[in-house]
Amino acid sequence: MAHKMKVALVGIGKIAVDQHVPAIDASPDWDLACTVSRKGHVDEVQAFAGIDEMLAARPDVGVVSLALPPVPRFAYAEAALKAGRHVMLEKPPGATLAEIHALQALAADRGLTLYATWHSRMAHAVAAAKAWLHGKVVSRAHITWREDVRKWHPGQDWVFEPGGMGVFDPGINALSILTEILPAPVHLQSAELEFPANRQTPIAARLVFSGGVTADFDWRQEGPQTWDIAVETPEGRLDLRMGGNVLEIDGRPAGGANTIMGEYPALYARMAALVRAGESEVDLAPMVHVADALTLGRRVVVEAFEF
Ligand code: NAP
Repeated sequence: MAHKMKVALVGIGKIAVDQHVPAIDASPDWDLACTVSRKGHVDEVQAFAGIDEMLAARPDVGVVSLALPPVPRFAYAEAALKAGRHVMLEKPPGATLAEIHALQALAADRGLTLYATWHSRMAHAVAAAKAWLHGKVVSRAHITWREDVRKWHPGQDWVFEPGGMGVFDPGINALSILTEILPAPVHLQSAELEFPANRQTPIAARLVFSGGVTADFDWRQEGPQTWDIAVETPEGRLDLRMGGNVLEIDGRPAGGANTIMGEYPALYARMAALVRAGESEVDLAPMVHVADALTLGRRVVVEAFEF
């Protein structure tokens, strides 16, 4: 087996603790060498408060994984690439498209790996859904992505600040699956965005794309949570449920597993393969749809929101 590579994990918050640390610990490819976080740390792992300090002190750490929110992430990614480190980005890959283009140019110029991850694409049934749709014509598709922001992002005010993307923070996961499985690309035609009166980003969005594709995102869903994508073709109907983890064809079970475990181990395995091959992977299609919705969307002001 190839030797383990050293990775620095940056932004020790919710997703770092829930998913990144367990995935790295269980990986045959990675050794968690150190962390960078202003307040957070991981037990028994060297902790730095700033990225420049870490880059100077640990030239032996070749890879930096950024689990920060999108707005502060660029400065950290740029510093890591300029210091000659490969970089792995949480989703969404940045606050703006131009920012990510700049990182792509920097990585390409220096021969470094840049991996913009989309964890939902690693859900159990996504590859099977893509294979089933291959070569078919889509007559209609609908995304229903309704969850409770208070349950999944308790107190995380950054999601409602400029660049936090609001309901598109989960919605972009649905769009990452959609853009992976559809046999032909679609583009946004119109959108209606609901902004709480006291917030900068939408709490709900309804999107209309070309090709009969529509989406309904809502962050106010209490009780059962819904992460479904339904796709109709002349040859039958596909339903992806549970965030891409369960597949049904014509209403009958056709694969997947009713669990969300496994996405982050798959992302770290992919990063290891990219670094070893000297390649990058940056697909901005999901983020283009979000940027288009924020460009084209009609604004509707709704009730103020507090956590
Ligand atoms: P979070 O817990 O609110 O933030 C992660 C860490 O980033 C914080 O603990 C903080 O660490 C650091 N940070 C926050 N704001 C910063 C700033 N302005 N400057 C420097 N550091 C800052 O967020 P999260 O839920 O883990 O989400 C992080 C990313 O992962 C997002 O892009 C999100 O979309 C993605 N993600 C989240 C989930 C989820 O379920 N939460 C799931 C999948 C993906 P320090 O204060 O210690 O520096």
